[in-house]
Amino acid sequence: MRSGIVVTGTELISGLRQDRNGPWLARRLRALGAEPAQIIQVADDPEEIGRALGFLEDAGAELIVTSGGLGPTADDLTVAVVAERQGRSLRLDEPLAEQIAAIVEPLRRRYPGLDAAALAAGTRKQATVPEGATVLAPVGTAPGLIVPSTRKRAPLVLVLPGPPRELQPMFESALASEPLRSLLAGASPRREGTLLLFGIPESEIAQTLRLASDQGLDLSALEITTCLHRGEIEVTCAYAPAAEDDYRRLVAFIAERHPRELFSSDGRSIEAIVAELLLARGDAIAIAESCTGGLLGARLTELPGSSRYFRGGLIVYSNAAKEALAGVPAELIARHGAVSQEVARALAAGAARALGAQVGVGITGIAGPDGGSVEKPVGLVWISVHLSSGLQGGLTRSVNLPGSRTDVRERATTVALHMVRSALLRALSDGNNDGAPAARSAG
Ligand code: ATP
Repeated sequence: MRSGIVVTGTELISGLRQDRNGPWLARRLRALGAEPAQIIQVADDPEEIGRALGFLEDAGAELIVTSGGLGPTADDLTVAVVAERQGRSLRLDEPLAEQIAAIVEPLRRRYPGLDAAALAAGTRKQATVPEGATVLAPVGTAPGLIVPSTRKRAPLVLVLPGPPRELQPMFESALASEPLRSLLAGASPRREGTLLLFGIPESEIAQTLRLASDQGLDLSALEITTCLHRGEIEVTCAYAPAAEDDYRRLVAFIAERHPRELFSSDGRSIEAIVAELLLARGDAIAIAESCTGGLLGARLTELPGSSRYFRGGLIVYSNAAKEALAGVPAELIARHGAVSQEVARALAAGAARALGAQVGVGITGIAGPDGGSVEKPVGLVWISVHLSSGLQGGLTRSVNLPGSRTDVRERATTVALHMVRSALLRALSDGNNDGAPAARSAG
């Protein structure tokens, strides 16, 4: 089954804002077996919206999802255009108008200066819906709509509001409604599996896929996409349930060929894996970041519940901060420079000590674009992981990261998270080995 997406918003076309709805809807539709033919972005312009709907109908879409343009003002035109396209007249839905009025009532009370007549007109506009449409309860103020066509073999149109926090839950509730349930009953849902690898180039994965084919694995039923994301390689496979065995064989092949690099075969992120390892050991982590300026802390706190293992982070950008907050001796910085193995180690140990954690991470590097030298070029980052809980292991290494300042900073956090994973895995497999060497250094 084919589908199509029309994302409306002049702010998208003028480049002021990035579309978050098109990609989200595409993934959901794909999983449901309604393959999106296109995601079309158009300005809030009735002609453009109408043209996009016509284009997708011609492309064979049986379901079209629109996003945006459901507001109370006159420039919110999606409903009128969809009604016309589907051959339906508009009518005021009185109970819906009352429902919307109740939703905007607190707003009216909070801002008594609001023009009551304009507010009432806006409410009536949002409650004016095509005849024969299914109304989806508002998440914000705008109701969603499912609008069938009066023409035979024309697509069903699902009309959703623009704000992603409204669109996403409304899409899910729309799936339970009768028109969509019966339309999607004819689709074959697809499964999706994601493998995550770290520490190999994308070309190596392409080679692995070629080898898998050469060795007789049938990949024809798997739609494989690989992409590099924050320094990790994401291999995503979409497939019909009947191809489950082909997918399993491919996962086994990749796992055998890249046992060290494949770190997640169920889509779990490195943040989630580090969290699980910390919880398994009962360890807390603390960090001291220089060139990443808090980005690692942000990643470690992305998951809910991170307070169970994340103690805190020090942003030690200047040498004075490294000394004052992480207790790095001034003499160490003077002797080796702020970007050095020694300072990275001192930061990791200092963070753990200062915040009473068993695991410490130190990051110091040259993010650029200036400040590099022949000896210490832009992109050089020293990262250290310190483990204390009865275990004297640790891991310190340098990496030369390519790309812009943003790339270097982002990738440094990815390397750091993978180093924490390696150190914790090693610690878990070593057991509580007090006699381990004082520090391990690699790279
Ligand atoms: P409302 O009831 O809020 O008026 P609406 O359906 O009219 O809903 P729009 O006016 O198109 O929605 O958009 C409202 C806001 O939602 C935008 O200013 C923007 O912040 C956000 N938004 C809309 N479309 C998108 C999109 N495709 N991606 C990301 N954000 C969006």
